[in-house]
Amino acid sequence: MEINRPRDLAGVFDALDSSPDSLLLAGGTDAMVLVNAGVLRPEHVISLRRVSELKRWSDGFIGSCVTYARLEHSDIAALAELSRTVGSPQIRAAGTLGGNLGTASPAGDALPFLAAVDASVELASRAGSRMMAWDDFLTGPKRNALESGEVILGAHLPADMPSRTAFAKIGVRQAMVISIASVCVTRSEAGAVTVAMGAVGPTVLRARRAEEMISAERAPTEAALDEFQRLVSEEAQPITDHRSTEEYRKMAVGVLARRALGRCMG
Ligand SMILES: Cc1cc2nc3c(=O)[nH]c(=O)nc-3n(C[C@H](O)[C@H](O)[C@H](O)COP(=O)(O)OP(=O)(O)OC[C@H]3O[C@@H](n4cnc5c(N)ncnc54)[C@H](O)[C@@H]3O)c2cc1C
Repeated sequence: MEINRPRDLAGVFDALDSSPDSLLLAGGTDAMVLVNAGVLRPEHVISLRRVSELKRWSDGFIGSCVTYARLEHSDIAALAELSRTVGSPQIRAAGTLGGNLGTASPAGDALPFLAAVDASVELASRAGSRMMAWDDFLTGPKRNALESGEVILGAHLPADMPSRTAFAKIGVRQAMVISIASVCVTRSEAGAVTVAMGAVGPTVLRARRAEEMISAERAPTEAALDEFQRLVSEEAQPITDHRSTEEYRKMAVGVLARRALGRCMG
């Protein structure tokens, strides 16, 4: 296995030109699991960890190689919360936002946040860069719109970020597990609510009917919150697998969304 360790994007593209089938490696917390299991046998690896452009994190932009250990200190509540729930300290020290986008698992914990705030993903290649809405980038279970020769540069957050955000997830235990269901809820000063759900569909989903219904309520009553919870559950599209059942996931995601909304209103 040949490992290339460029320090800048130009070096990444040089390496991709000479070996287009290279594995792009960020923290390796997903990719190395597959290598160790023999599922992936890359001849060429490009390590992205030293690439300065990918480690950049400013107000509205999170570079793909920003780790959860850094994101834990975000001022954005949901981003800090979700980052604190990922794996263990070792996983958070290595794992990155770009790796979550690259794997595109329906259970990736950063993805409901990006969906709830309507983030865009920036991709770069030798030819230039292109921006994609989160839902154009995430095309299905473990599938995304990344093309050969492209690198995920990072995620752009909107200028008008909601004032309140909250993240919640459930797994078979408190740590080191893949989510059975997760949500990110946001609420603006004007009361507009967004809800994004993870692990309850082929990819991250927005609960649009629940959003519309609760956004019309300035001071939601218990009955309105009941209806919100019911709609979120109804809009989830989970499957039964070795982690949980369809029925449990539907119920859980509604409860999580109601709790997260409560934190956005508290
Ligand atoms: C024990 C354990 C616990 C975990 N717990 C969680 C959890 O709680 N929540 C969660 O969401 N995930 C969890 N994960 C999964 C993993 O940590 C995350 O998905 C993480 O975000 C992956 O980031 P990475 O930098 O390690 O990606 P890598 O493994 O380096 O890469 C993953 C994929 O993305 C591609 N990629 C990475 N960066 C780029 C880029 N810049 N451009 C193009 N392609 C790129 C790679 O080629 C690869 O296909 C866990 C993993 C382990 C092993």
